[in-house]
Amino acid sequence: MTATRWLAEYAWLPDRSEPTADVLIEAEDGRFTTVTPLTGAAAPTAGVEVLTDAVRLPGLTLPGLANAHSHAFHRALRGRTHGGRGDFWTWRDQMYAVAVRLDPDSYLALARATYAEMALAGITCVGEFHYLHHGPDGTPYADPNAMSAALVEAAAQAGIRITLLDACYLTASVDGGPLAGPQRRFGDGDAARWAERAAAFTPDGGHARVGAAVHSVRAVPAEQLSTVARWARERDAPLHVHLSEQPAENDACRAVHGCTPTRLLADREVLGPATTAVHATHPTSADLALLGETRTGVCLCPTTERDLADGIGPARRMADAGSPLSLGSDSHAVIDLFEEARAVELDERLRTRRRGHFPAARLVDAATAAGHAALGWTDAGRLAVGARADLVTVRLDTARTAGVPPVGAFFAATAADVTHVVVDGRAVVADGRHRSVDVPAELRATIAEVTR
Ligand SMILES: [Zn+2]
Repeated sequence: MTATRWLAEYAWLPDRSEPTADVLIEAEDGRFTTVTPLTGAAAPTAGVEVLTDAVRLPGLTLPGLANAHSHAFHRALRGRTHGGRGDFWTWRDQMYAVAVRLDPDSYLALARATYAEMALAGITCVGEFHYLHHGPDGTPYADPNAMSAALVEAAAQAGIRITLLDACYLTASVDGGPLAGPQRRFGDGDAARWAERAAAFTPDGGHARVGAAVHSVRAVPAEQLSTVARWARERDAPLHVHLSEQPAENDACRAVHGCTPTRLLADREVLGPATTAVHATHPTSADLALLGETRTGVCLCPTTERDLADGIGPARRMADAGSPLSLGSDSHAVIDLFEEARAVELDERLRTRRRGHFPAARLVDAATAAGHAALGWTDAGRLAVGARADLVTVRLDTARTAGVPPVGAFFAATAADVTHVVVDGRAVVADGRHRSVDVPAELRATIAEVTR
């Protein structure tokens, strides 16, 4: 691969509280080799001649955004679940109606379009929390990991990296109710058989890695939680778990196990620095302390949590307790990490009726380095020499961003303001267009197919 060179009007460099002007960025073989401000005190004395062949990036250039929590097929539900009143559980029934219709070919097509929408939004890596493992009646495909392979291939075709979080999903309720109806295709029988199947999946391509997931304490019996945790630990793989998205989950866990879901996960060695709890919307103070002292990360999904009327998680208290925060678009009610990031601050304002909880640099970190780390890509999400060469450029001259100072971009920009996206040194989006996927056309066609 040849070297590439860019000149960013502004770039958000690591450990800075605001963007830096006129930054020369070079990459070779998918890694940054130069990240140098050309003006100001740090400027080199001889740098003018390098500018002629650099690709100019007007606006603010960020590290790659990481979408740490995705269920790709939920994209088919966008805008279709707003009739009537309903709650998380009625939404889930609608989600299951789509789930039963997918097979490896149709899931590849839908996920390719969804991941290409993510690329347009500046997302260079996705954490796919995957549980549609088997045929609709629970019978494994000839290749028991055919659905995982479809998702990994979809990410390759969309030009982004993926961490396939293979979810163990065995029961329908905390008290061990069996999977029924649409849920049958999620299950492997027990955690040992889940582990065997998951271990057999070795994805093609340097763009993919595999992690593990406990769907939730509803879906994995307590005595089998440590099997999943051990599987991840032995492989040094990330481990994700849906946690306390709903008060009903806490109530059921207390009734069956006499403790909160967080306590149960701690006792079964599920928590730790390689673990990410998704949502954690309804934790107790003791839960927050447990998550923080084990350095368990929390992935907030504010646009989904608001869409499903889940509630507002205590983001500031989580961060203060020691949990790194990452972001996910989860149900894809929207795919816009700028909106997820500012919602962390804005929701906290609604809850506390005070402003100023997270400086902009903290929101950038959640959307970039912390998200990549939660997905096992600790060498991505920073504009720094040696890091993976991901770049996301947001225009500062659109109707939404004109007149906005670069430091305020996260409070004004939307996914539609992203114009250039580079993943591992390759341009995936240029001038606001995906280079290989007609995203609206493919979304329209694939969603029509699974919602007929
Ligand atoms: Zn989820």
